[in-house]
Amino acid sequence: MEKTTQLYEGKAKKVFATDDPNLCIVSYKDDATAFNGLKKGTILGKGAINNRVTNHLMRLLEKNGIPTHYVEELSDRETLVRKVSIVPLEVIVRNIAAGSLAKRLGLPEGVKMKRTVLEYCYKDDDLGDPMVNEYHILAMEWAAKEELDLIASYSFKINQILSDYLREASIELIDFKLEFGKTPDGTIVLADEISPDTCRFWDASTHEKLDKDRFRRDLGGVEDAYQEILRRLLGE
Ligand code: ADP
Ligand code: UDP
Repeated sequence: MEKTTQLYEGKAKKVFATDDPNLCIVSYKDDATAFNGLKKGTILGKGAINNRVTNHLMRLLEKNGIPTHYVEELSDRETLVRKVSIVPLEVIVRNIAAGSLAKRLGLPEGVKMKRTVLEYCYKDDDLGDPMVNEYHILAMEWAAKEELDLIASYSFKINQILSDYLREASIELIDFKLEFGKTPDGTIVLADEISPDTCRFWDASTHEKLDKDRFRRDLGGVEDAYQEILRRLLGE
């Protein structure tokens, strides 16, 4: 399958059309941004790592009954996926307080939540991806009730599958962001990526951060952290 025209260039990926109108190719970049694009940089090798880690986890989820956009890994940085119309929400799943939740609720980072917390943000860079609730989503018709219920139940199931799997690699899944899309026949599938850019991964014993927080917070060792995730998950 060959790329034809570029459909979109985002902060971390480019999306290309193919000869098949139902398929597109995503190409992962080394570019990194944080704080809604305010901080910019490059993480050497990130594109290839995020591509491979995402595909590995998407295959795991498919095997466990979650429909995803994944079709085939084409190269180090490029993957063939089903073209979907993205539900304009970032679905955030949280097991342990960190980042904006810790700040908003005045919790120290690392406190285990008594129940898994689900949040939605409206995907709009100009508005800074504001947090919204189910009423906003239904009122704005970003998703129908049945679609949102399905998205929520997939998100909890994904959390269970990923947390169990990552624990075996001594990685604690703190929180993560998901995006879902709709295929032309209306099926809801998991889309976008699952990588150290979009998840908080902590080493299970030392609590060392192995994710994009190293870039956001200038902690150093950014490339090594991404490489370590690749090594633990794919053994290289
Ligand atoms: P951003 O748009 O936030 O800068 P990226 O650089 O990751 O993010 O760009 C990738 C874009 O592709 C995102 O807007 C994402 O919603 C979209 N996308 C992800 N998977 C698919 C898919 N299967 N079909 C169509 N669009 C997709
Ligand atoms: N996240 C993401 N993209 C976003 C916002 C958040 O992938 O635009 C992920 C982030 O990596 C973390 C989780 O969602 O794993 C929760 O992020 P949080 O709300 O704490 O925001 P942040 O601290 O990243 O600003």
